[in-house]
Amino acid sequence: MTTASVNERIQLIVKGASKDSTCSPSLVKGPWEFDGGPAHYGPGASSEDTIPADSPTQGVLPAEYRLASDAELHERIIAAKQTLGDRVVILGHFYQRDEIVQHADYLGDSFQLANAAKAHPEAEAIVFCGVHFMAETADILSAENQAVILPNLAAGCSMADMADIDSVTEAWEQLEELYGTEPDSQGRVPVIPVTYMNSSAALKAFCGAHGGIVCTSSNAEVVLKWAFERGQRVLFFPDQHLGRNTAKAMGVSIDDMPLWHGRKPLGGNTAADLEKAKVILWNGFCSVHKRFNVQQIEKARAEFENVRVIVHPECPMPVVDAADEYGSTDYIRKAVAGATEPTTFAIGTEINMVQRLAAQYPQHNIFCLDPVVCPCSTMYRIHPGYLAWVLERLVAGEVVNQIKVSAEVSENAKIALERMLAAKPL
Ligand code: SF4
Repeated sequence: MTTASVNERIQLIVKGASKDSTCSPSLVKGPWEFDGGPAHYGPGASSEDTIPADSPTQGVLPAEYRLASDAELHERIIAAKQTLGDRVVILGHFYQRDEIVQHADYLGDSFQLANAAKAHPEAEAIVFCGVHFMAETADILSAENQAVILPNLAAGCSMADMADIDSVTEAWEQLEELYGTEPDSQGRVPVIPVTYMNSSAALKAFCGAHGGIVCTSSNAEVVLKWAFERGQRVLFFPDQHLGRNTAKAMGVSIDDMPLWHGRKPLGGNTAADLEKAKVILWNGFCSVHKRFNVQQIEKARAEFENVRVIVHPECPMPVVDAADEYGSTDYIRKAVAGATEPTTFAIGTEINMVQRLAAQYPQHNIFCLDPVVCPCSTMYRIHPGYLAWVLERLVAGEVVNQIKVSAEVSENAKIALERMLAAKPL
């Protein structure tokens, strides 16, 4: 299937004219079709997503990996991993496809994988089956002599790319001009920058250098408390939904959470709005979680009397408000694992994780709230062909697709990350 026909298919699904169970057959079978293609993330991505001009691009995957059968790739990955032994550790995000996850030494969310990356100083290489910002974080936290490898360089994150260092620096300068830099009588500075883990290393470094911190969806509330002890307000980027949902649960009024539109004067706000702001939200979002809506929850409740609706905090606020519970991928996993009676779960997060839970816990009825069930199109770029390729190159003594963060960026980003790792999830 060509790129164009996949895109046509997606449009049909979006319009409700197709009942396909996935928005992207090509993404599953041959993601190399999209490597180095037009500046978008491929099927399932939002039209508002744009890949930054300086993003790394994936070279052509050698034909032997593109043409190999699933079974052959599976065997080759196992063989290469056995040969490498303790020299390599493979990390897999919850949103990865099963064909990848089965080879991972660790499966987790970004917070857990950040810790796992630190736990193996003996490994020469960390193969990160996730997206670009996660591999950057692993490089920052791992030892100097370890190589962090992203099997497909096209595996970015559309949300992370919605906030770049130039526009955040510009926003910061405007806020400093408005608020000044002097602490109040309680010693709290005017603004603390908080970046979601889903952001570039440059933004993490910005937070480290400006008294700020990183958060994940597991510890966002702990991190916001940390920030409010040190600052009068927070500039939260890039995900507006995680920031809004978390601050609202902590009692911050929606009226005190203006949205900041990058590159507009005062982010499109008035000085008065910003004066009373408690959390200034960057205008970013996740294309996958933005798809969930209240109607899907109402439909699930109409069809299943005692359905338990759990959504991820990257979902819009009305969806989180309408759900029974919300939490990180790890929260969702533990909620399902901890259910002692057969239960119907309607889950609002990425489809790979939901399908894995459904297979793992057959005593429950588990389904995804979104009937279109698009995967995270960038995570899906990590096909077994790429994993086999990077591992076999390692066996041959060659490191390909290394993600290396500069020493200056790494130093400041590490400050913000270490602050985060010290802030334990609730
Ligand atoms: S699910 Fe959303 S936030 Fe997570 S990697 Fe994919 S695009 Fe980024």
